[in-house]
Amino acid sequence: MSTATATATAATATAVAPAAVELHGVHKWFGTHRVLDGIDLTVRPGEVTALLGPSGSGKSTLLRVINHLEKPERGYVSVNGELIGVREHGDRLRELSERAILAQRSGIGFVFQNFNLFPHLTVLDNVAAAPVATGRLHRAGARELARELLDRVGLADKSAAYPRQLSGGQQQRVAIARALALRPGVILFDEPTSALDPELVGEVLAVIKDLATSGTTLLIVTHEIGFAREVADRVVFLDGGRIVEQGPPQQVLDEPRHERTRDFLAKVL
Ligand code: ADP
Ligand code: MG
Repeated sequence: MSTATATATAATATAVAPAAVELHGVHKWFGTHRVLDGIDLTVRPGEVTALLGPSGSGKSTLLRVINHLEKPERGYVSVNGELIGVREHGDRLRELSERAILAQRSGIGFVFQNFNLFPHLTVLDNVAAAPVATGRLHRAGARELARELLDRVGLADKSAAYPRQLSGGQQQRVAIARALALRPGVILFDEPTSALDPELVGEVLAVIKDLATSGTTLLIVTHEIGFAREVADRVVFLDGGRIVEQGPPQQVLDEPRHERTRDFLAKVL
């Protein structure tokens, strides 16, 4: 697709509904190291995007920029139509207040490779914590919601357990329930199954697949190529901080156009 066509398509999509996530000319560098080197990406509401790329290509940084954990040096990010970050050409956008950033972040779920559960809280309280802390729900309401979400991820019977008593796959399912508790418009997953023993990967992917079919917008960094093929609407391949190619899974995974994509797939498949 030409740049002009891509821009026109994005503009048409925006006219219908704001993009769930949009990155425009995003640059991020650490010292002299350009980790993101001009990223343009539009994720439509309900779209499931798999982000692939070699280690060090900038995948985690991309997710962290979307979630305000890193600030881009250039370019901007918008989530559900709200701008984050700085414009090109150096003129700064309105700086968001800490409060506005927290409000935006509460609309974005983040699921990490290593679960990051609160070890001293029960499973139920891990899931109920954020709606209480953000003032959205009282404790009783948050616990009721947490029970529903734990049921959804197949862990209704583990409410009273502590994270250390669970398998890695179960902990990650709790982490997903926790991300859902703020009813996020977008959920970002950073290699959600990479820390798991192989026999536990399937149960976590099944939960993510359930979310994918329920219309939640998902952006998933993964090395699970089969999963990406089955679940993603779009695969984005990143290398050296740039999007090398993107498209429907069949196109990018089965008929990659770029040598770097082919090399990468040959290594992970
Ligand atoms: P990926 O998730 O694709 O493996 P990352 O986004 O984690 O890649 O990292 C991309 C590059 O940025 C790597 O070379 C990494 O060392 C570097 N990097 C990431 N975070 C930082 C940081 N906070 N300070 C310095 N360099 C960083
Ligand atoms: Mg990473």
